[in-house]
Amino acid sequence: MPKGIAASPGIAVGKAYILEKEEYCILEYKIKKEEVEGELERFEVAVESSKKDLGKIKKRVEEQLGEKEAYIFQAHLYILEDPLFVQDITKRIRRQRLNAEAAVRRTLKVFEAKFASARAEFIRRRFGDVEDVGEHILRNLLKRPTLTLSHLEEKIIVVANDLAPSDTASMQKSNILGFATNVGGRTSHSAIMARSMEIPAVVGLGSITSKVQPGSVVILDGNRGRVIVNPTSRQLANYRTEKERFISHRKELEILRSLPPQTLDGREVGLAANIAGPEEVDLAVREGAEGIGLYRTEYLYMNRSTLPSEDEQMEAYKKVLEKAAPSSVIIRTLDLGGDKFLSHFPVPAEINPFMGWRAIRLCLERVDIFETQLRAILRASRFGNGKIMYPMISGVEEVRKVRRILTGIKEKLKREGTPFAENVETGVMIEIPSAAIIADLLAKEVDFFSLGTNDLIQYSLAVDRVNEKVAYLYQPLHPTILRLIDNVVKCAHRENIWVGVCGEMASDPLSVLILLGLGVDEFSVAPTSLLEIKKIIRNTNWEEVQGIAAKLLKSKTSPEAKRFAERRLSQRIKRIVQGNYSAG
Ligand code: PEP
Ligand code: MG
Repeated sequence: MPKGIAASPGIAVGKAYILEKEEYCILEYKIKKEEVEGELERFEVAVESSKKDLGKIKKRVEEQLGEKEAYIFQAHLYILEDPLFVQDITKRIRRQRLNAEAAVRRTLKVFEAKFASARAEFIRRRFGDVEDVGEHILRNLLKRPTLTLSHLEEKIIVVANDLAPSDTASMQKSNILGFATNVGGRTSHSAIMARSMEIPAVVGLGSITSKVQPGSVVILDGNRGRVIVNPTSRQLANYRTEKERFISHRKELEILRSLPPQTLDGREVGLAANIAGPEEVDLAVREGAEGIGLYRTEYLYMNRSTLPSEDEQMEAYKKVLEKAAPSSVIIRTLDLGGDKFLSHFPVPAEINPFMGWRAIRLCLERVDIFETQLRAILRASRFGNGKIMYPMISGVEEVRKVRRILTGIKEKLKREGTPFAENVETGVMIEIPSAAIIADLLAKEVDFFSLGTNDLIQYSLAVDRVNEKVAYLYQPLHPTILRLIDNVVKCAHRENIWVGVCGEMASDPLSVLILLGLGVDEFSVAPTSLLEIKKIIRNTNWEEVQGIAAKLLKSKTSPEAKRFAERRLSQRIKRIVQGNYSAG
């Protein structure tokens, strides 16, 4: 059964439609000297028509899905205007006297080789955009109609190597049941589009296009990242039932959107969303998030060749703040390093990158980069309720250093007369064991804590969070983790500050109950998990889970803690936890 990456939740059952790139038969021939001007004109007309096509697609996507999704088409328009690209083609027509189609094809080949030799993978992948633009020009030169998925009459599951932005843009939610691709990851363009359109998708399947015949029946499981080709009648029946359950489960959850995240006995906690960029805020708000509990700003720095300017960052933060207002947005400063790198910002090779020059350590050395970001956050915070959070804090000196930098920036902004929000709250991520142990000291320095359990577990148990060989040791309910969290919550409450959890532990149903019992004040989860977690909170009795958590602190192993918690939970919540659907 082909296994890939669950890119967008949901289940689809239907016929496969294999979307293959159209191969044009292009003849290459020499034109006469006197034909050169005419051929150049033919090329220019094709470029202009391509601009019109792309402009139309951009407008439609902007209207239907928003500006961010449409940005890629602006990038395609830039390629059409790129002198290197266009001149390479015109030179071939003028000097080599090639027909326009052959000139375009040859230029595409040259660009393909150039991109393929780039060291950074994201640059290599960008050739797909140039190719997409080249195809538009060829189609216009050959006067072929644009192939769009919108002409389909039957509802289908699209199977492709990858989907170009113009493919996803032409998809109509009414006739696409879902899609499966050979390549791509959770943050690839097609995955983001699928989530925005709320259609199930599985990407990174390797060779799904060679395993499926046109018209074969497939089951696409966007929750688990699986595709079943030519399923048996038993598998079909099982999935149909599961699909119905998923749909009714989602419907049931939708009722919760406007209800508060409150336990049965009246304890109200915060329930916010984790996002990687402005494009995710609408979904978070729609799903009832009370603000953004973690904005991972490093994504703004990725997939590009230069660092984002202060103004560009300020615009992105402003957008998030305005969309989320009046709720708060916790903007986490740059958390680069570990497994997150930029091709244009070389970090020296390290034996132990997760323990190396990353996050706040990097920012405290490259103060220029850090200052630019802090200035942008302070300026943007006037447009909403922004808070600043520092990642990878290991001790008090680091907090004091960042505070001095922030104070200096505020003074500079005042001197310049640049308006900004003066009283932005600041907090730290508790994700290094040293920070969890000295939480009493840190709590006196900041306004809030957010437990980054992904890293806290990795560092406390010495288990690389991305190494599947040691994954069995990655235990959120290990006594060490429970004791550290207990200490952090107690220290924070003693200083009257609040504690959130923004690591993945906040979206695991059983862990949520235990975290509630330990006194955590806020949960911040992926937008697609919000309703699930709200359901758990609303069906929990706080007093009951407090009692369970207190006893759990005495457990000796993680399996023992798990067994104990499961045994002690009331039937009602047990059913919810066990029947829970992972949102993918
Ligand atoms: C964490 O470490 O738990 C966290 C939320 O941060 P990230 O996953 O971005 O490291
Ligand atoms: Mg982290």
